[in-house]
Amino acid sequence: MSQNAIEIEGLTKTYRATRRTDAKEALKGVDLNIPRGSIFGLLGPNGAGKSTLINILAGLVVKTSGRVNIWGFDQDVNPRQSRASIGIMPQEPNLDPFFTPRQSLEVQAGLYGVPTSQRRTAEILELIGLTDKADAYARSLSGGMRRRLLLGKALVHSPRILVLDEPTAGVDIELRNMLWQNVRRLNDDGMTIILTTHYLEEAEAMCDEIAIINHGQVITRDTTASLLGRIDQKTMVIQPDGAADLPALPRGVTGEKRPDGALVFAYKTADTPAESILAAVRDAGITIKDVKTEEADLEDVFLSLTSSAAR
Ligand code: ADP
Ligand code: MG
Repeated sequence: MSQNAIEIEGLTKTYRATRRTDAKEALKGVDLNIPRGSIFGLLGPNGAGKSTLINILAGLVVKTSGRVNIWGFDQDVNPRQSRASIGIMPQEPNLDPFFTPRQSLEVQAGLYGVPTSQRRTAEILELIGLTDKADAYARSLSGGMRRRLLLGKALVHSPRILVLDEPTAGVDIELRNMLWQNVRRLNDDGMTIILTTHYLEEAEAMCDEIAIINHGQVITRDTTASLLGRIDQKTMVIQPDGAADLPALPRGVTGEKRPDGALVFAYKTADTPAESILAAVRDAGITIKDVKTEEADLEDVFLSLTSSAAR
């Protein structure tokens, strides 16, 4: 039995042209395995294909080609079991304004064929903090309450995998914290969590592993720790007084001479003190006219990865 919650192979999706839109190749051959029990982040700029990927997993969008296996069930061979294994909190709220939270959860449970005796409506209302509002009309709920109800709806059939599509886009800090608490608790109880976000800090705080997707392709996939390790990278730019060649460098430092004569060094702050680079430069007899360091943040790494993969 596979230890992956999700296995995706050669997944493509082309949206057909309509009278108003051109055809769009939203996914161009995605291979991705997501381990069981993880909190997995799918990161990428707007239009990268995150929602398309997730909606295919949830059975809401039909793929063009490729293989999708969810909790050991091939989507084409066992569509019902694979759908039952996953719950999705969609990016676009899709609540019926005439249903109360209690009714919404009951109807959703019915859609998933959960027998009345096995429904967890009260427990879920409690979890999402809507017990007080259980019988209020959805149209009277605040935006934050609606989001929480969407989360509740994703949970009615006790899925193994919970998918959250940009759950905190445009929500206030209080709601964000509440969502994250819920997600952590569900994960502690064994649920595999997949979330998309374009907030890098959020991915950093929440996710064990991250895949970055851009233009319909996975461009990197790594543990969060190791991705942050890359981000620990700093750049030092030294303008020598006159012409100078690259000096011998300490281990772990890479150097480059720019056409304008500047010497550019990349190093990791954890491994190399900036002083040792300056010393190497001075030892080579180079007089330093100007020096500055540039710290790469998550945004930089993200941008450099996504722009190098751009067509
Ligand atoms: P993301 O969630 O990463 O922002 P999407 O998966 O929503 O990206 O979109 C990927 C690309 O597919 C975008 O160019 C988008 O315009 C296009 N797209 C998404 N949904 C549809 C659709 N229903 N019909 C046509 N094109 C679509
Ligand atoms: Mg999206």
